[in-house]
Amino acid sequence: MKALLFVFVCTMAFAQKPKFLIVTDMEGVGGVNNADEQLLPGQRRYDESRQLLTAETNAAIKGLVEAGAGQIVVWDGHDGSRSLSVDTLHPFGQLLQGKPTPANYYMQDRLYDGILFIGQHAMAGAKNGVLAHSQSFNVERISLNGKAVGEIGQVAAIAGYFHIPVIMLSGDQAACDELLDLQPKAETVAVKRGMGKASALSISHEEARILIQIAARSAAIRVKEFKPWMVQGPVVLKFEFKDKEKSLDRVYNGKTMLEAFEAWLGK
Ligand SMILES: [Zn+2]
Repeated sequence: MKALLFVFVCTMAFAQKPKFLIVTDMEGVGGVNNADEQLLPGQRRYDESRQLLTAETNAAIKGLVEAGAGQIVVWDGHDGSRSLSVDTLHPFGQLLQGKPTPANYYMQDRLYDGILFIGQHAMAGAKNGVLAHSQSFNVERISLNGKAVGEIGQVAAIAGYFHIPVIMLSGDQAACDELLDLQPKAETVAVKRGMGKASALSISHEEARILIQIAARSAAIRVKEFKPWMVQGPVVLKFEFKDKEKSLDRVYNGKTMLEAFEAWLGK
């Protein structure tokens, strides 16, 4: 009986600790600016990008652990969800890999207390964005009820539907600004800023890790202050493609954000 009670008390203590989802990408990692060399398997500096992404992710996990997180799930969001490895992930992190996106599998109402982005880039066409795009480099613009959104806004909108706020982001300066527009209380770490064309000015990797750890910890401690970003229905989700592929333009409608998103996914 004593043992049973102990298990029960432990479970209760665990249940009350906040849970976090980290969404990763690679285009927003510090030191990454070259799509021909740094983003895909087989490219000359791809392994370095993976190491940098892993270390930035682990820095965020460290910060969340310091803040008392009960569970930390990392969703591997770059290039078909195959950029991270359990071998090098911080021991407290759990790795979620596979398709489709987190919104399909992993979000239920308040399943997580907060979402964090690591290595995130800005939306297509963002001023001074580094490797900025929305899903693919062929997309000109994605909008939600007329408001332009990138991957940050789409995740924030789906998360908002499930009452989960985005609380922290590391990436380039334009990506940080994009999140602050939706979640003004978020902690952001600009690990680099665009300097025109394909160039970027990055802080050192060591500095990036220190700042990410501090920001993740601070956001997690303040998690109760955040309000999710809610897109009021009815929702019109519009995809517009660049010149050559204009014929692919589509509009998806839904009574709610989730319905519009599922219409896009073809559910
Ligand atoms: Zn990516």
